Amino acid sequence: MIKALRGTKDILPDAIGLWQRIEATCRNIFNIYAYNEIKTPIIEEASLFTRSIGDATDIVQKEMYIFCDRGGRNIALRPEATASIVRSYIENSLFQSGGISKLFYIGPMFRAERPQQGRQRQFHQIGAEAIGSDSPLIDVEMIALSVKFLEKLAIKNFHVKLNSLGCQKDKESVIEKHKESFRPHVGKLCIDCKGRFEKNVLRIFDCKEESCREIAESVKSENALCSNCAKHFKQVKEGLDLLGIQYAIDHKIVRGLDYYTGTVFEITQESLGAKDAICAGGRYNNLVRELGGKDTPAIGFAFGVERLALALGKAEGAKGEGRRMDVFVTVAGELLYNEAFKLLDFLRSAGITSDMDYEARSLKTQLRRAEKLGVRFVVIVGEEEFKRGNIILRDMENHSQKEIAVEDIVKNII
Ligand SMILES: [Zn+2]
Ligand SMILES: [Zn+2]
Repeated sequence: MIKALRGTKDILPDAIGLWQRIEATCRNIFNIYAYNEIKTPIIEEASLFTRSIGDATDIVQKEMYIFCDRGGRNIALRPEATASIVRSYIENSLFQSGGISKLFYIGPMFRAERPQQGRQRQFHQIGAEAIGSDSPLIDVEMIALSVKFLEKLAIKNFHVKLNSLGCQKDKESVIEKHKESFRPHVGKLCIDCKGRFEKNVLRIFDCKEESCREIAESVKSENALCSNCAKHFKQVKEGLDLLGIQYAIDHKIVRGLDYYTGTVFEITQESLGAKDAICAGGRYNNLVRELGGKDTPAIGFAFGVERLALALGKAEGAKGEGRRMDVFVTVAGELLYNEAFKLLDFLRSAGITSDMDYEARSLKTQLRRAEKLGVRFVVIVGEEEFKRGNIILRDMENHSQKEIAVEDIVKNII
């Protein structure tokens, strides 16, 4: 038997309602904040990600799915969407529409990580990007939008953690400071973190090894912002206060990817534990330029959909919005199957969710199936009634039934 690949998962019909609810809520709330949906390809040139995420990151070094296609091109399954969207923004000249481009996406991403709860090799993200403004109000809007999204999903007990990495210069001095605080502990770091200490010390904060986590917890951390960046960060905090959004400053939120600058934030949710963020984001003011566009400030965030589903599943009474069936058409007598099938087509054309049993089983079996499906109405197409141009309509809620003309069926249901 062929099975799904390790780290991939079927989202089965009984779970899909939850996913549909998450996606519908996303489309609704992101549209209210004037973000438009964008869909970019799952495959991209591998260099897009090595250049943007950073070729010394775990994502690029260990986790990216890369293959050579038949034309000898180096292709990657996207490990995240920000780089793809910036690529599309430049390639399609989205800046020409004037002002800020506000985009959101829903889709699968791929990383060859060790699979664990809420962490798959094919996982899904919902994210937003605002490209073309450095206003602190956009930072506030981004955080407000992610908080509103969680509220609309009725996910509670989440915490916003905020930091600023400052501009490239500030980031470099933060890296220096952290290097000094990690220096006495280098010997106790894992082999990967020894390398990170040399290449980008900030990534030690993302290490999943317990011993590295302990060291990362213990080191002193502060940010060192120039006056411009300090002012920007102050305005972000004031904006959040203005909207009444609760947050905590955490200088250990550093986001290990190369492209982050300025405001960075994470949202954790209690049922998922403090280690795994349900949402992460930040500014990436240099990325558009680094990928060949004009100097354009930008900010974005991404939610893990598996983690949202997990948090929702843990919340009591969370249910999806799988559509309930209105009508199940049953047939008494094999000869009437075609008539019943035509009636079913008529119901569907009228927009009524309906189905039948196609196997010519006994009426009793068909009725049992209807009951199991929890339908609102059952139609019985029987020989005697059909000769009179009628069918029997059974109301499953009131446990009553009546004989009605075939042409009156829709008005009796709606
Ligand atoms: Zn600065
Ligand atoms: Zn480590």
